[in-house]
Amino acid sequence: MSLAESLASVDARIAEAVRASGRAPSEITRIVVTKFHPEHVISDLAALGVHDIGENRQQELTRKHDALGGLDVRWHFIGQAQTKKARAIRAAADVVHSVDRERIADALHRADPSGDPLDVFLQINLTDDPARGGVDPAGAAALAEHVLRECPSLTLRGVMAVAPLDEPPARAFERLASIAADVRSVAPEATAISAGMTGDFAEAIAHGATHLRIGSAITGPRPTHD
Ligand SMILES: *Cc1c(COP(=O)(O)O)cnc(C)c1O
Repeated sequence: MSLAESLASVDARIAEAVRASGRAPSEITRIVVTKFHPEHVISDLAALGVHDIGENRQQELTRKHDALGGLDVRWHFIGQAQTKKARAIRAAADVVHSVDRERIADALHRADPSGDPLDVFLQINLTDDPARGGVDPAGAAALAEHVLRECPSLTLRGVMAVAPLDEPPARAFERLASIAADVRSVAPEATAISAGMTGDFAEAIAHGATHLRIGSAITGPRPTHD
């Protein structure tokens, strides 16, 4: 299948899931995750009308962003964020989906305190393993308050999560929806939910996802990497 065909096929499945959930297509942003793929895949996607690109490693994001600076796309950083990379992330990303502790929020803010506002999502850990990325659900509202109070150059958009492998995704996304409501109780504008990947985007849409992060279903299998 060509890139155009797989994009069209995924978009048709998204449209069907949106219709089945009684939601409006305008509520959904489809981010194409291009990690490990060469730069030309991103320009090919842009030529097909894709506006939102996701990358999960800072160095790769920076390299592609700098090489493709003229493209009219929004760059979403979806990977684990290290404080020492905050300046580089802020320089390349339009949106960061992986704010999971106060220190990374502070570092992103301090990287450019009076610059263009940076959209951020709070990454929520839906597993029982504290070593996985994401804030514990019980700490999500406090982290939201911290971002609102202490990080004025960040715009809190909502929550983000990856469904655990050992649980039906629908159940995980149901929990995420309730955590999203906790966050909205302190940050009413933070209405977005970044959830849903190749294997589970229909379930994510059914449970309120607004930002889908889809890679392999569109780009094909990821090339092997270092
Ligand atoms: C790679 C990745 C995706 C996309 O995964 P696919 O299964 O290829 O759709 C989404 N979210 C995050 C955080 C990722 O790292």
